[in-house]
Amino acid sequence: MSADQGTREQARKLTNELTRLLRSGKMLPGSITQRHTFCGRAGCACQADPPRPHGPYWQWTRKVAGKTVTRRLSQEQIEHYRPWIENDHRIRELITALEAISIAHLEAEQHHGGG
Ligand SMILES: [Zn+2]
Repeated sequence: MSADQGTREQARKLTNELTRLLRSGKMLPGSITQRHTFCGRAGCACQADPPRPHGPYWQWTRKVAGKTVTRRLSQEQIEHYRPWIENDHRIRELITALEAISIAHLEAEQHHGGG
């Protein structure tokens, strides 16, 4: 198999995976983090020594028009939507990988004097 065939085969695999993820329609931007909080109320367990913070809480964080937006999600929501967020990450990875292949293709053609 030539290098070019190998690249085409790789691009085909990436495209198949990307298509499958896009068809699912399940994609959420952002990331999930776990947070503990300290309410500051005197006498609360979170103010004790040692402190016992509230939580853990699940947070979904994403950028909207350049601003970070955070929303608290329940355990059930996290279980439901975590794969959607993983899909979204993977879609972005796949697009970046396919773009890299296309860039390499263009550059190789230019070096061969094509165009
Ligand atoms: Zn507290």
